[in-house]
Amino acid sequence: MSRAAQTDHLTHSQRVYNDALETATTDRVLLPDQLLTQDSVLSDAPPAFGAVFDSYYWAAHSNKARSWIQAAAVFNLILMPFDYLVNPSLLVATLVIRGVIVSAILLGLYILWGRQRPRWVQGATLLAVSVTIMLEAGALGALGGVPVFERYLTAGLFTVATAVLFFPIEFRWTIAAVVVAITLHGVMLAIGPVADPVLAMMVSGFYCTAIVSFAGTRNATLRSQWKSFKSKIRELRDQERLTQLNAELQLVADLDPLTGVQNRRSAQNRIDRIWNDATGAVPGLAVLMIDIDDFKILNDTFGHAVGDDCITGVANTISKAVQDGDIVSRYGGEEFLVVLPRTTASAALAIAERIRQSVETIRLTTDGSDTGRRMTVSIGLASLDGDLSPQKLIDRADKALYLAKHRGKNQTVISPPRDRESEGSGLAQTPEPRDVA
Ligand code: GH3
Ligand code: MG
Ligand code: MG
Repeated sequence: MSRAAQTDHLTHSQRVYNDALETATTDRVLLPDQLLTQDSVLSDAPPAFGAVFDSYYWAAHSNKARSWIQAAAVFNLILMPFDYLVNPSLLVATLVIRGVIVSAILLGLYILWGRQRPRWVQGATLLAVSVTIMLEAGALGALGGVPVFERYLTAGLFTVATAVLFFPIEFRWTIAAVVVAITLHGVMLAIGPVADPVLAMMVSGFYCTAIVSFAGTRNATLRSQWKSFKSKIRELRDQERLTQLNAELQLVADLDPLTGVQNRRSAQNRIDRIWNDATGAVPGLAVLMIDIDDFKILNDTFGHAVGDDCITGVANTISKAVQDGDIVSRYGGEEFLVVLPRTTASAALAIAERIRQSVETIRLTTDGSDTGRRMTVSIGLASLDGDLSPQKLIDRADKALYLAKHRGKNQTVISPPRDRESEGSGLAQTPEPRDVA
């Protein structure tokens, strides 16, 4: 068989295998969990469940039937000159029976096994093998006469026995093929040219025992494959649940419990990832360090519960002001770090101002009534400049925030560009940053 046909079968069966496992793992309506734990037999499984197993089973084991058919076809042809040597008068018969009829049937069966067929078609292929091989053996043996007849028949029975072992089909079809092979063997032995009937019966008995025990082995294999299919699906489902649980846990571990925005560690990881993914060429990146003004006083005046509400209110306001893909995190007690990828300094300034002005409109309430107090925030802004590290960018935003506090709070201060900053030797000497308040 050509390499291309072989590859086609492999790709096709791989696809069927993956689809079957995917369906079995994800479709809990078709395959409820309790069906996987029940100690059921394949023939009792609901049709939908059986159908998924059929696909999986065909994909995993069809190559066994195909290999058997290939080997049988090759041996069938190799035996042609031996037929002639045994008895030259067999020449025409071997050419017709082996060369044409049996080869054509085996080719047909090989093609049938190239795709998944209904259970009964797959089962019937072994019956076809049984009938073909036994009739072939009987016909050539009878034409060969007394010296070879029995040997051809036992060789036929042995060949069918090996097929019984290899064909991955429903057990009832295995039984059918065995019964047919033994019956044909017995009938042909009874009517054919046999020298010593007692000896012939003894030898037949031996081969019949072998073929029946092969059928038993086949049944045990099928049962254990059905069991391992169910446990494989259980394992895959457990794995899927675990992956899902891990993802949920990760999500919770990344969030700040009070505000629901990212926590500091998660924000730092994400900014590092943005940095690394961009391999040194981050296309515009700005960070805002936002801190609530005079929060201690607010806390002391209205209590911690109101303080917490303020922190949550500011977190919500910031979240509303940014887009998907931007990172909002609670960096400290009443301090937030916002990371704005692909954002220029001027765009970041607009966002910072939007946040600052929105915070001014937040109403501070206790027990549902307005306290009359307002809240403000100060913001330090730093945008990517040369080859800064993420931490240096955050430090610059922090310094700008410090300056905003220093200058009277409720304002945004942009951190000066790095080269200008490095000309000085600290914040006191920092040239006038752009002040937007
Ligand atoms: P400034 O304008 O300079 O930022 O002054 P401030 O009072 O806001 O700053 P400071 O750092 O002195 O005080 C922050 C206060 O935030 C101290 C702490 O009691 C309070 N705080 C920190 N975390 C929480 C929290 O989770 N809930 C509440 N209610 N208060 C918090
Ligand atoms: Mg503060
Ligand atoms: Mg603070």
